[in-house]
Amino acid sequence: MFNRSHPVTPATATGSQVGAAGSRSVSRLQGRSRAASNALQRGGRRLLHLWRSSLQLRGIVSTMLLGLIVVLLLGSYLYQRTADALVNDRILTARAEATSQTRAAQSRFDSAGRMDAVSLTQLAFDVVGQLSSPGADQSREVILTRARSNTGPASVPTVLSSEVGLPSVPTALRTAIDADPRRQQVQVISISPADGATVPAVIVGSRVTLPTSGPYELYFVFPLEREQQTLQVVARTFTVGGIALVLLLGAVAYVVTRLVVDPVRRAALVAERLSSGRLHERMRAHGEDDIAKLGKSFNAMADSLQKQIRQLEDLSRVQQRFVSDVSHELRTPLTTIRMAGDLIHESRADFDPSVARSAELLHNEIDRFESLLSDLLEISRFDAGAAALDVEATDLRATMGRAIESTAALAARRGVRLEVIPTDGPCVAEIDPRRVERILRNLVANAIEYGEERPVRLQLGVNETAVAVSVTDAGVGLRPGEAALVFNRFWRADPARARTSGGTGLGLAISREDARLHGGWLHAWGEPGVGSCFRLTLPRHRGVPMESSPLSLRPEQQGGPGAASGSATSQVAGSGAVQS
Ligand code: ADP
Repeated sequence: MFNRSHPVTPATATGSQVGAAGSRSVSRLQGRSRAASNALQRGGRRLLHLWRSSLQLRGIVSTMLLGLIVVLLLGSYLYQRTADALVNDRILTARAEATSQTRAAQSRFDSAGRMDAVSLTQLAFDVVGQLSSPGADQSREVILTRARSNTGPASVPTVLSSEVGLPSVPTALRTAIDADPRRQQVQVISISPADGATVPAVIVGSRVTLPTSGPYELYFVFPLEREQQTLQVVARTFTVGGIALVLLLGAVAYVVTRLVVDPVRRAALVAERLSSGRLHERMRAHGEDDIAKLGKSFNAMADSLQKQIRQLEDLSRVQQRFVSDVSHELRTPLTTIRMAGDLIHESRADFDPSVARSAELLHNEIDRFESLLSDLLEISRFDAGAAALDVEATDLRATMGRAIESTAALAARRGVRLEVIPTDGPCVAEIDPRRVERILRNLVANAIEYGEERPVRLQLGVNETAVAVSVTDAGVGLRPGEAALVFNRFWRADPARARTSGGTGLGLAISREDARLHGGWLHAWGEPGVGSCFRLTLPRHRGVPMESSPLSLRPEQQGGPGAASGSATSQVAGSGAVQS
């Protein structure tokens, strides 16, 4: 039939066109086989994942497999026993039948007396016809043949009751009868009746003596057709029963694993919710069984955890409240002290030198006290979760400029040069300019403070997702491990070091909170005697996560001061990501 989907290539097609079409179909075939193997791999991976992740599936499949093995072993054992019993039973009845029929045949031959070959042959046919069962029930065949030891003239030929011929009689059986003519011999053989199918059969042979012709062998063949049919029914029953049993086992395993897995899943869900902060979540725990006990223990654990967390929260709230209250309470007397201190400070020229020096000291300490109080208030606002961002699209260059301006006086006092590495184009990001300026001011002030009067370098960077500022100095640096500590509250590398700029030990802790509020990172690197680098990275757009920082943290990668060995690096990441 003409097939429309396979157009015949036109006779005018050139060799290259045919080649191109061929290579196209080869590549299409390759593509299809690649897609098929990919789909197979995906399917395999999904199955593996399902197998690993589902306790229930593992339970059901394992139970069914074990059940199948037991059913197979038990089934084949029972089948074998049934087959053996049926065959043995048939052998017994066949023996008994053969004995009585052989006796009957012998007595007919004996009573016949001497007769000619034709009459004797006729008698043999009669006897065999009588011995083989009458009617359609072909349950017994008969073979009468001359014994191999009978070498006299063959007056009676081999007589058969059906197509089961002499070749079906095993030689071993004939030899056994020759060896012991008095004994009946039995064997199980295969015969091929008219329809061609091979059937097992029991063959029983014994010796008879024909008048004038001497010893003959009389064989009865009992086909095991009925037994075979019975065994087929048994096998079918076993197969159906086995499948039903395995399915039943699967169903039982499903129910049992559900009983166990469901509460475990619920427990996992509740545990997840608990860990996400929903402390009031509890498991259902009814009854007295093991699952109920698990639920009760789980709930008791959750209760105790909740209680402890609440206690800690209360304690922390009390502490935060205390710090906040103390800071607030101190503000009023501090204002008075400030006014009085300013008055004394302005009149210091009228005092004698030692009192004037005290007035100076008092003035400085009041400054420090004031900034400590405002830092404490700021920190307590973060702790109370009251800090909020006031976001606007801002060019970071302007923010950096303002931070430099406000630290310029300190830099001039300390004789430190501030170098800004120029950037091409704007660095606009959605940030809170007040907070970012405070971070930068603190980083620059620290770099001036700990920079050993060497130049401080500021660099700006921008990529698709982030903007960054790094402040690098070539000062005292940080010892290994200190880069992780600098962001801790009141941590100082050298607590005894005299601070001329009036640092509180809270500057970097506040900077960290500010960066975190933006969803940004504040990273530190330092090496003793080489210098330090603090890098602030902020997302360009609010809520859009950053992929990487546009600036490198290590000065050797920036082409700046310092070598790489034995350095301390740390990052404090608002989003928890680690980049350096
Ligand atoms: P403060 O500067 O008021 O002491 P910070 O939180 O700003 O508080 O800094 C904490 C500590 O981190 C400082 O005392 C100092 O030991 C260390 N540190 C900060 N910046 C640098 C820097 N650029 N180089 C070396 N050490 C620094």
